Amino acid sequence: MHDGLIQWLAHGYLDWAWWQIVIFTLVMTHITIASVTIFLHRCQAHRALDLHAIPSHFFRFWLWLTTGMVTKEWASVHRKHHAKCESVEDPHSPQVLGIDTVLLRGAELYKVEAAKKETLEKFGHGTPDDWIEHKLYSRFTWQGVGLMLIIDLFLFGAIGATVWAVQMLWIPITAAGVINGIGHYWGYRNYDCEDASTNIVPWGILIGGEELHNNHHTYATSAKLSNKWYEFDIGWAYICALRSLGLAKVKKVPPKPILSEVRPADDKTLEAIIANRYEIMARYSKTLKRCIANEFQHMQEFASHLKDARDWL
Ligand SMILES: [Zn+2]
Ligand SMILES: [Zn+2]
Ligand SMILES: [Zn+2]
Repeated sequence: MHDGLIQWLAHGYLDWAWWQIVIFTLVMTHITIASVTIFLHRCQAHRALDLHAIPSHFFRFWLWLTTGMVTKEWASVHRKHHAKCESVEDPHSPQVLGIDTVLLRGAELYKVEAAKKETLEKFGHGTPDDWIEHKLYSRFTWQGVGLMLIIDLFLFGAIGATVWAVQMLWIPITAAGVINGIGHYWGYRNYDCEDASTNIVPWGILIGGEELHNNHHTYATSAKLSNKWYEFDIGWAYICALRSLGLAKVKKVPPKPILSEVRPADDKTLEAIIANRYEIMARYSKTLKRCIANEFQHMQEFASHLKDARDWL
């Protein structure tokens, strides 16, 4: 009996090598990130796509098991973030609270906001309201992650506690800290939208595509977060896979800029300009900058010619 316990603590049920456990942990955290970005963020908070009952129930169960986050709370806090972006009412703006606060204490900020009844009442509409939500997910919020701890310990023995700790830290660090902090502080901007949002890196893999946060704030109801040819959004790849299986219906993607010859403006043109305004402004400012730089260079050359001419006089 005693030996059995020691054996189990050392190896767990699976008796895997360390690198197998590392891969397992990465796969688990990746599924959690995918659930957050596809289900909580794009489907629930922004209604950018509709999900079939099968993936929807899977994501809800997975989020309960690995994060303990409640859909209504998450959607409310996030919708408020978009509505009040970079103001004192924004639940987690690094422009207001400072980057250190959001980066290191992002999860706490989320919890404070999620506990506010008026936030849930004002921003929580349309989130799951069925039997399992009331009886299990929003009622026993920590029991899911408790079950996950038992599963990790069973599979891997003592090291399972570390696997579990990494799983538990993943969302607070990547989503609450990195996206909400750095995603409004540091990176590049494709669009000059009104808030300080940034794209952290052009390849959205590790955080499921959420890295492209400036694109997201510009086209908040789009299911696709990548806009340029060199940008990649893995969450969008998964959505496309679900769509091809008939398990997802995409409601909106970013408008494609259509550039053609000049014609007199009509209603359609105006509509197109309004829909594409961020893309147009971005291109306009780029052209303008190039134009001014050219003019400036001409002037400098001209001035140096004048100087030469004066020397001859
Ligand atoms: Zn944001
Ligand atoms: Zn966001
Ligand atoms: Zn959002």
